Amino acid sequence: MVDSARTVIEQAAALAAAYLESVGSRPVFPNVTAEQLRVALGRPMPDAPLAPAEVVRDLAAAADPGLVGSAGGRYFGFVIGGGLPAALAADWLTSAWDQNAGLYVAGPAASVVEEVVREWLVDLLGLPADASVGFVTGTQMAHVTGFAAARFHVLDAAGWDVGRNGLQGAPRVRVLVGEKRHVTVDRALRLLGLGAPTVVGADGQGRMRSDALAAQLAGHDGPTIVCAQAGEVNTGAFDPLEEIAEACRPAGAWLHVDGAFGLWAAAAPAYRQLAAGAERADSWTTDAHKWLNVPYDSGIVLCAHPRSHRAAMTVHAEYLVQTDGAQPVRDQLDWVPEFSRRARGFAVYAALRSLGRSGVAELVERCCRHARSFADRIATQPGVELLNEVVLNQVLFRYEDDARTDAVVERVQRSGRVWLSGTSWDGRRAIRVSVSNWQTGDEEIDLALETFRAAAAGDTRSGGSSTLDEALARNRHGAR
Ligand SMILES: *Cc1c(COP(=O)(O)O)cnc(C)c1O
Repeated sequence: MVDSARTVIEQAAALAAAYLESVGSRPVFPNVTAEQLRVALGRPMPDAPLAPAEVVRDLAAAADPGLVGSAGGRYFGFVIGGGLPAALAADWLTSAWDQNAGLYVAGPAASVVEEVVREWLVDLLGLPADASVGFVTGTQMAHVTGFAAARFHVLDAAGWDVGRNGLQGAPRVRVLVGEKRHVTVDRALRLLGLGAPTVVGADGQGRMRSDALAAQLAGHDGPTIVCAQAGEVNTGAFDPLEEIAEACRPAGAWLHVDGAFGLWAAAAPAYRQLAAGAERADSWTTDAHKWLNVPYDSGIVLCAHPRSHRAAMTVHAEYLVQTDGAQPVRDQLDWVPEFSRRARGFAVYAALRSLGRSGVAELVERCCRHARSFADRIATQPGVELLNEVVLNQVLFRYEDDARTDAVVERVQRSGRVWLSGTSWDGRRAIRVSVSNWQTGDEEIDLALETFRAAAAGDTRSGGSSTLDEALARNRHGAR
């Protein structure tokens, strides 16, 4: 018996809803080994077809013990974010519609939705009204796209067509980055043949020193790309973008801003000032799948030079239809390093509409308020040293020494109540808390604080959250 599509989809919707309902009472990090998952998932490739409903049911059951509760409000690791209901549902529809979002002609709605989201984004983030946009997997590929546009543009200005001639024999392109840039910047540069960048020193919060940048730029007028950061991944600190833009201008340098999560500060009146000067850059990257709480994979690149952006990305082939009659239309493959791809615009559109301008601001401000509250209160716990100025949604702290810091993190992770990870800062171990999930509220912050208190005290008793701990124990036991 073949299941109807409706049967399978409705079953999946029920499984997904049940999962999301369970996230509040499951250990945030699963109590499972890779070997157990290999056993659960590692069935032989079947010789014959299986019923779709059975396949999906088995998959959900086998994957379940290995799922991390990052969709829920008790997850504070890395910078992750969950999925707003509207964005998640739009993401499902995107799969159902299965549009090839490479060309207008392969899915007109998928193309037009990107035009609309582009307009909303430049408005919300305070960027130039005519900036072009590309929807990619994440900030990693947004960097590749932005730097490719930059590479084209600065070499074009030097009379070199990098598309035709490549980099061999080209004028040298100098790339300057901050000491605390994200690792994805280096990989993007590597993929583009730009090699290892020149590193500009940073201050104690990880902000690029604009005086050091100005000194590096002085007396050099060759093709130059500068990469600044809006939101350092550990501290949340912003490079002084106004001063950096000022230093870039006389040097004719292209300014790229990594705003994977931090660029959203520009959408919140209370935090907009942090991003001041960002609008003067030449390209920007951000993620929808982090702070905007759109499901993975959803990164965004914006560019103040649409012609260079397009020139760096476009492909021409005889069979491609590039317009709709006389009407200019958006062929998405002109703006991203992909050809066939998922229609990523729909979920971003749904997230932005469901929040509205005030909702985006409120999401950003609420997360920052919770981070502030966590920081103020963790700093009063014994042995804790707060390491960052909490300017955004990231909190960085440590205990007396590396061994103790790591031991506390490990105990917190094992508790199943909340999850976050260790990191390194200034050559020492530290703990990073990121408040980026739309579901995180006072209760989750209180729980995180109590969990740290108990972990640091070596206290294994529940300490005030017995209902959750009972549920965690039950669910842990229920796991394989
Ligand atoms: C997460 C992050 C990236 C990489 O983004 P992906 O979406 O994971 O590719 C780059 N820069 C910063 C500052 C980040 O926080």
